[in-house]
Amino acid sequence: MKIFKDKHILQKEILKTKGTSFVPTMGGLHKGHISLIKQSKKSKFKTLVSIFVNPKQFNNKSDFRSYPRNTKKDIKLLKKLKIDYLYIPKFKDIYGFRPKNKVFLDKSSKKLCGKFRKGHFEGVLNVVNRFIEIIKPKYIFLGKKDYQQLYLIKKHIEKRKIKSKIIECKTIRENNGIACSSRNSNLSKSQMKIASNIFYYLKNLKKKIKKNYSLFKINRIKKDLINLGADKIDYLENFNTKDFKKIKKPNKKYSLFFAYYIKKVRLIDNI
Ligand code: AMP
Repeated sequence: MKIFKDKHILQKEILKTKGTSFVPTMGGLHKGHISLIKQSKKSKFKTLVSIFVNPKQFNNKSDFRSYPRNTKKDIKLLKKLKIDYLYIPKFKDIYGFRPKNKVFLDKSSKKLCGKFRKGHFEGVLNVVNRFIEIIKPKYIFLGKKDYQQLYLIKKHIEKRKIKSKIIECKTIRENNGIACSSRNSNLSKSQMKIASNIFYYLKNLKKKIKKNYSLFKINRIKKDLINLGADKIDYLENFNTKDFKKIKKPNKKYSLFFAYYIKKVRLIDNI
């Protein structure tokens, strides 16, 4: 595994190859990231993982500061996984140039997380656009856990006619049901239990509303989540996964999207 901190040196190296399969991350690696990396390794291209905690996608400074970082441990893990390249840029390497493509922000960026984290998706698209220009990856592996992010990146790529192909990867979960997330490391054992109870409650709810949609009473459900130990709920919505619009009745392609807090930790998922 070769480690790069400078985009020019990285670019020189990847120019020699047929192309790269890119797995962008913010570090704090877990089973979800590992699954993306393993899928990337099955492609015919070299696997390039990045670790960059992008300050521009945090709408809150203390959230940025408390975001879990463990680069030493991450490097050890990536070596074991035998990836080809690791890119750990500094802020200036990413933001010290003017990208050719303007970011395209689909109007669905104003929904769900976009409504509650002002500027978040602008920050995500900004950094992804820059990574794409630096790396020009053949494939980009993204997790469905962050489905709205994946959807918006796909829209940007389509609109700007970028040649990279997005590979959608399924959500990996802990044994207790909750989606693996770097943020889980900020939860205590009892808070993990709350998250797990909430996951099973919502999973069960989804089954019920498939049969009888009138059971989807948001205020009632929010109250139940508070009783289960959530401290604040940002949203709880059923969205069609193809056009990212709220559904009126259940059809085949919808997911239940939710975001809530346990104390200061914000958790998002979709089932
Ligand atoms: P992050 O480091 O949180 O920015 O995530 C980097 C990539 O890993 C994104 O494409 C995420 O959607 C993906 N990812 C995060 N958690 C999971 C998970 N539990 N299962 C699958 N992919 C995930």
